[in-house]
Amino acid sequence: MISKFLTCIIFVFAVSWASAAYAKLNIVASTPDLGAVAKEIGEDKIKITNIARPTEDPHFVDARPSFMVKLNKADILIEGGLQLEIGWLPPLVMGARNNKILPGQPGYLTASTGINVLQVPQVVSRAMGDVHPYGNPHYMLDPLNAKIVASHICARLCLLDKENCKYYQDNLKDFIKRLDKKLTEWEKMLEPYQGTKIVTYHRTFPYFAQRFHLEVMGSLEPKPGISPSPSHINNLVPMMKSEGVKLIIIEDFRERKTPEFVASKTGAKVVVLPIMVGGRKETDDYISFVDYNVNQVVSALKNE
Ligand SMILES: [Zn+2]
Repeated sequence: MISKFLTCIIFVFAVSWASAAYAKLNIVASTPDLGAVAKEIGEDKIKITNIARPTEDPHFVDARPSFMVKLNKADILIEGGLQLEIGWLPPLVMGARNNKILPGQPGYLTASTGINVLQVPQVVSRAMGDVHPYGNPHYMLDPLNAKIVASHICARLCLLDKENCKYYQDNLKDFIKRLDKKLTEWEKMLEPYQGTKIVTYHRTFPYFAQRFHLEVMGSLEPKPGISPSPSHINNLVPMMKSEGVKLIIIEDFRERKTPEFVASKTGAKVVVLPIMVGGRKETDDYISFVDYNVNQVVSALKNE
């Protein structure tokens, strides 16, 4: 009897020890680019769920209620911040009933902390539909910002999983090393095109443009989140012609009619880019994603 009892105890102990040893931190990332950077740091010690699909407009994500279940079990929620997710994430978090991932808790991480935010308006306002009231939230398009985000994620993983901190720190070092090496390559590739004037659909690319010295002259949208209007396009076309704008960079989920019309009037070339990791089959991790975009821009300019 006693031996049976002991066996049982040992078995229970073994099972709970095993599950503790192999329990992975559950991470939910609002967008796949944040998820991809978290994966670089956590690798097989974490389990990642991304809410937005890589080919979706990150401002207007189809937030299925099934994500509440994932958020309910999450140890960490990573969001981009600057109100990128304001239209779709809060109801999911509220429905998830998980105190661990509420603002102020260790399980809640705003990735934009410490980022040098561009286009910060003088007055915070969502008036007339402006979806960038706290400045531009598309900072992940600059690889140097991905390093900042990776450091935040590493610190948070260390806080919640002290045992594996060294592993996370080593992965961070490795990620930064690989990214820096590629950055030198990317800068060299785009060096001959410094100062090239571009127009974008939405204000998605200012961080990318700043990093690689392209000059954004305007956007097809009159304001972030507001569809192009005939009067705005009528003003944009002569400006693009007189400034010699070479490219119209658009996100892969945009309609093509307006950019193609503007291209036909100005001679600028339309370049379609994924804006999050996984938006193309060639972009399955963060570095290959930036690599793909740099190559697309270079090949469009090379064939000018
Ligand atoms: Zn935006």
